[in-house]
Amino acid sequence: MALESAEFRVRQAGEWLGLDDGLIETIIAPRRVLEVSIPFRRDDGTRDHLVGWRVHHNTTRGPAKGGIRFHPGVTRDEVVALAIAMSLKTALMNLPLGGAKGGVAVDPKSLSLRELERMTRRYVSELIPFLGPDKDVPAPDVGTNAQVMAWVLDQYSASVGYIVPGVVTGKPIELGGSLGRESATGRGVVEAAALAAEKIGMSFDGARIAIQGYGQVGAWAARLAHARAAKIVAVADVGGAIANSNGLDISLIDRKLREGAKSVVETGAGEVIGKGIDGSSALFAVDCDIVMPCALGDAVDERIASQIKAKLVVEGANGPLTPKADEVLADRGVIVVPDVYANAGGVTCSYLEQCQNFAHLSWDEDEVNEKVVSLMRSAFFRLHSFSVEQKLPYRLAASVLGLKTIADSHRMRGLHP
Ligand code: GLU
Repeated sequence: MALESAEFRVRQAGEWLGLDDGLIETIIAPRRVLEVSIPFRRDDGTRDHLVGWRVHHNTTRGPAKGGIRFHPGVTRDEVVALAIAMSLKTALMNLPLGGAKGGVAVDPKSLSLRELERMTRRYVSELIPFLGPDKDVPAPDVGTNAQVMAWVLDQYSASVGYIVPGVVTGKPIELGGSLGRESATGRGVVEAAALAAEKIGMSFDGARIAIQGYGQVGAWAARLAHARAAKIVAVADVGGAIANSNGLDISLIDRKLREGAKSVVETGAGEVIGKGIDGSSALFAVDCDIVMPCALGDAVDERIASQIKAKLVVEGANGPLTPKADEVLADRGVIVVPDVYANAGGVTCSYLEQCQNFAHLSWDEDEVNEKVVSLMRSAFFRLHSFSVEQKLPYRLAASVLGLKTIADSHRMRGLHP
């Protein structure tokens, strides 16, 4: 489904641009797909075995760039779909990068820390010829974090014989990571929401927001939106959804989670409106102004889309809306700010991390945050004016702008040999 949606969106943009079929197919097809088998030792001495992928979707404008996802639902097709989205994202943001994604079909919570390390190192060791600061630069995604990136860095560096900080982004600050990277995706989501709200005459100050997902993206979006005087009226994670029409106490949720609560439903911060992963979709029916799906792909289908009461949907996750859900929302006049723009704050900060690595610099946090926000703002103004001029919804406008940049680069470079 994810791959179908990603290909559909590129084809739709390609047709709008009038690209000849040959070029659309060249761009849709990933440049390289590597499938690896990952044998590793469990703590009890037994041998286990997983499967993983790394996809270089487009490398025409720069090194392949994109996260590594550890999740039991990861498939080859999903990784390709996510890599396609990365190519559009980096192109739309005018970053000198291509698009990539990696993934291992595993629930990282089912592994001990040592097992996770051995598994990550074995996966990375299979990818070595694929990786490098000028070839392919991984980053965190669902189920991975700065610690996992530190192992990626170490495994790669050990293979070449010296430390190569620029081979990975989203790494710990001590190893050349960038200040501001942890919050960058959420910061970009909030900036995107505030800019889009302004365009439809909605005040972000006091706006009621529902956020699905309380991980790296959703939790930061909640904190930063709250700091900008928006009211977070509902949040959800795999354990379920909670709501409070007067606004949830975000610092209470954070504190309870730090103290060991397994889910937002255990924090006592709001009324539990749904339990478990299925119950968590109750969040979408909550009365609010802005919905931010910040969890997994395909979270909103046409049925859920028809329940959304908000005027604005801002995609913090990759691919959270199916194309059918898009249609339902468009018919109902709901504005969608698409993933390839809305969650681009993460890869934008990754790019800034690499700039610092290559120049042996480290910028302070305010400087990084300002640069992320400024790049998000200029991309929004490009996207908004194009969508108004061409009378296109943001999603199609974003795909067209991204695809045009990629297609132009293909044409200018020519076809080898
Ligand atoms: N995984 C993030 C994304 O989907 C970040 C990718 C990166 O920084 O390379 O955009």
